[in-house]
Order: sequence, then structure tokens, then C-alpha cells
Amino acid sequence: MTQLFTRAGTARTANCTGGYSYTSKCTRCGGAGGRPEWNHSGYVCFLCGGSGVGKVKVDKLYTAEQNAKLDATAAKRAEASTAKTNAINAEFVAKLQGLDGDFWVGFRESFLARAKAPTERQIALVDAEVAKRAKAPSQHFGYIGDKVTLTLTCERELRLESQFGTSWMSICRDAAGNVVIYKGNADFLRQGDTGEVKATIKEHAVYNGVAQTMIMRPKVTQAA
Ligand SMILES: [Zn+2]
Repeated sequence: MTQLFTRAGTARTANCTGGYSYTSKCTRCGGAGGRPEWNHSGYVCFLCGGSGVGKVKVDKLYTAEQNAKLDATAAKRAEASTAKTNAINAEFVAKLQGLDGDFWVGFRESFLARAKAPTERQIALVDAEVAKRAKAPSQHFGYIGDKVTLTLTCERELRLESQFGTSWMSICRDAAGNVVIYKGNADFLRQGDTGEVKATIKEHAVYNGVAQTMIMRPKVTQAA
């Protein structure tokens, strides 16, 4: 007769229709029936009543060939899953490598150091940044002190609290996709608004690798 094995590889002879039937040890006391640590509440195991005997279990049995086939299938599945993870990682890392700026360099380094698959949140964060930058790489324009007329869209307004009170930082883009920042309390475009703005160029800055032109004394001359 062909030798049969459990899935784990132990040789067994079938003793019931389902495979190899046996009485397991009690899962609580491990077959001892009791434990000295339980002395204060009574030595005897309450789960098996001191018999040490657990449930009757049946292990399915396989031929060596069946086990080998199942092993091969499991290995193939594991390999496919690893390949998929690696592909996701490679794509993610390639995107990260395209993002300059301190924040993204740090993000990339700590991601690679952990050697783990990216979370959905991380993927969404990087995709959003890649999409944002693909729109138009921001460039500085004008000279400090220049008076300019710009068509701006206010993409985000941030409330800044300090000991001097509340002020606002408005993150905008001009028609060419350049980032323009206004910080202060002047009557300005609200988030989501587009309008024509007269202002003076205050400073050229770089934040997270993105060129930002800071403006001051803005006047909204025409709201779109
Ligand atoms: Zn027990």
C-alpha cells in the first residue's frame, strides 16, 4: 500500500474514512491534567477535568506526490504574490525617485530602510504629488520689487495663528502653473477663486523642491 502522510509530512496509516483520527491533548493543560501554578484555585484543569484529554481530531492524509503538488502550488502562489509586491514597490520607488525636495528625499530614505510594501495611503500621497508636479513645474518669475499683474487661482488658504493674531497664507498658481504665495491680511482671493491680482514681488523661495514666488501688497482688480 502507498505510504500516506499528513500535510506536514508525518507518515500515518489511515484509521478512518477521513484519514488519521486521534485524540488530541487538552489545549489548556497540554495533557498534564493540571498545573502547580493553578494550586491556589485548585490544581485540576477545568477544561478537561484532569483527564488531559482533548478533542478527537482527524488529519487528512496525502500521498507523497499529492503533498509535493500542493507544495508546488503554494510556492507558485507565494512567488506570484512576491512578484506582484515587488512590481508595486518598484513603481512606487521610481515615482519617489522623481520627487526632489527634503521632505520627499527623507520619505524615500525611510521607506527604503523599512523594506516594506507601501501602504495605500503612501501610494495615494505620492500619486497626488506626482500628478501635482506633472501639471506644470513651478518656476520663479520677475525680479524682487517688480510690480506685476497676475491671473491667480487660490488653491489653498492656510490660517496662521501667532502672538500677533491671525493671518493667512494663500497658495496660488498663475496661468503658467507657477506657485505664488501671499502671506498676510490683505483682502485676497479665497480658496478656489481665480482673479486678476496686482502685486509686488517680495521674494523667491523654494519649499519642498517647488519654486515659489512670494508676493506682497496684493490688490484683487478683477475676480473671475
Ligand atoms: Zn486540561
